[in-house]
Amino acid sequence: MALIVKKFGGSSVATTEKIKAVARRVLDGMKPEDKVVVVVSAMGDTTDDLIELARGIDKNPYHYAREMDMLLTTGEQVSIALLAMAFCSMGHKAISLTGAMVGMGTNSVHTKGRIVGIEPKRVEEALNEGNIVVVAGFQGADSFGDPVTLGRGGSDTSAVALAGALAADSCEIFTDVDGIYSADPRLVQGARKMQEITYDEMLEMARLGAGVMQPRSVEMGKHFGIPIHVRSTFTEKTGTMIREAYTMEEKDFEIRGLAHDDKVAKLAVMGVPNQPGVAHSLFSALADANVSVDMIVQSVRNIEHNVTDMVFTVAVDDLETAREIVEDVKKKLNAVSVLVEENVAKVSIVGVGMLGNPGIAARMFGALQKADVNIDIISTSEISISCLITKDKLKEAANAIHDEFFPRD
Ligand code: ADP
Ligand code: ASP
Ligand code: MG
Repeated sequence: MALIVKKFGGSSVATTEKIKAVARRVLDGMKPEDKVVVVVSAMGDTTDDLIELARGIDKNPYHYAREMDMLLTTGEQVSIALLAMAFCSMGHKAISLTGAMVGMGTNSVHTKGRIVGIEPKRVEEALNEGNIVVVAGFQGADSFGDPVTLGRGGSDTSAVALAGALAADSCEIFTDVDGIYSADPRLVQGARKMQEITYDEMLEMARLGAGVMQPRSVEMGKHFGIPIHVRSTFTEKTGTMIREAYTMEEKDFEIRGLAHDDKVAKLAVMGVPNQPGVAHSLFSALADANVSVDMIVQSVRNIEHNVTDMVFTVAVDDLETAREIVEDVKKKLNAVSVLVEENVAKVSIVGVGMLGNPGIAARMFGALQKADVNIDIISTSEISISCLITKDKLKEAANAIHDEFFPRD
């Protein structure tokens, strides 16, 4: 007997035909003694459509974050019901359960919730009664019982967290690519499929924009020590294993992959007084609104006026909230102006092999120069280097950098 958690993303359940195909695939791969939990996302672009719908009420619907969660959680509620019906219509017992019903406890940070504990008693009971349990991804409930979503791509996290809480034997993430590649295969022509990748490198790739896995899901996998198999919904091919350490010879590389993020925006507050406390007043106001700031640059002081410029990036979804806060802070600090730039993207390289290897950054910048791409901001971590560039140049930049580190024969 094995307890298996399988997660199917939005494109895998985009139509009722696809939902039936998912049900068939799960049943075909199932031994009679297996216990199976299937976590699903909302159908196709439902979540985007719901956000657009809310924008019809207010340009920044995230002001009403609790109501956004009430709205967004309906997407997954549709797909679980349909998938459970599909299993039943094929002759297998199944039950659909929402995040709240599976005991997915979260904090109360609406639209960006974090799982604080899982009590999957209801799932265990339903499994013991012979059901395939179909669980709504992306959602949990806080201590008031209110629905809370886990951030975009959060169904990955629901699946890995459930696998951990149930001590599952395996966790499979089914998606529209057949594994994890050295770069997004939709953007980079020569992207290579990996057989395996460590949690740490995958976490960095995900954090820097590789949307194939939500970063929190990789953290969860590492926390519970669960290997995660990322594979295609549409083929039987083995995908990529995310695990603690490499098991094959694949480990000798300088760079593990390239990630990009085109859902970022740059904000600048120009001419803020050059004095203690300025950065704190700006970034604490953003933190209070749960806006995460990514790259930060403070310009060299303008000696004549004793002012500097503060430049930083945020996720596009947070732009309206950040803009409102920054305008407010500008007034309080008597700053000169606020600039917003949406035509930006971040391209990053990731790999533990770059630790103590100073030539890597130079090669990345050289590739960008060859492609005639200007670098706006640079930031680094122990295992990554990121450059902010113009969004129009993203494809050329990503391909040039990838070709530098993964030459095509
Ligand atoms: P799902 O709806 O199944 O959750 P997502 O769209 O969230 O699917 O994630 C799959 C997508 O992730 C792929 O279609 C691909 O374009 C993108 N992606 C980004 N980086 C990578 C990468 N390094 N390897 C594979 N896919 C990637
Ligand atoms: N439906 C949610 C989203 O589009 C969650 C997910 O797909 O993982 O972000
Ligand atoms: Mg996803």
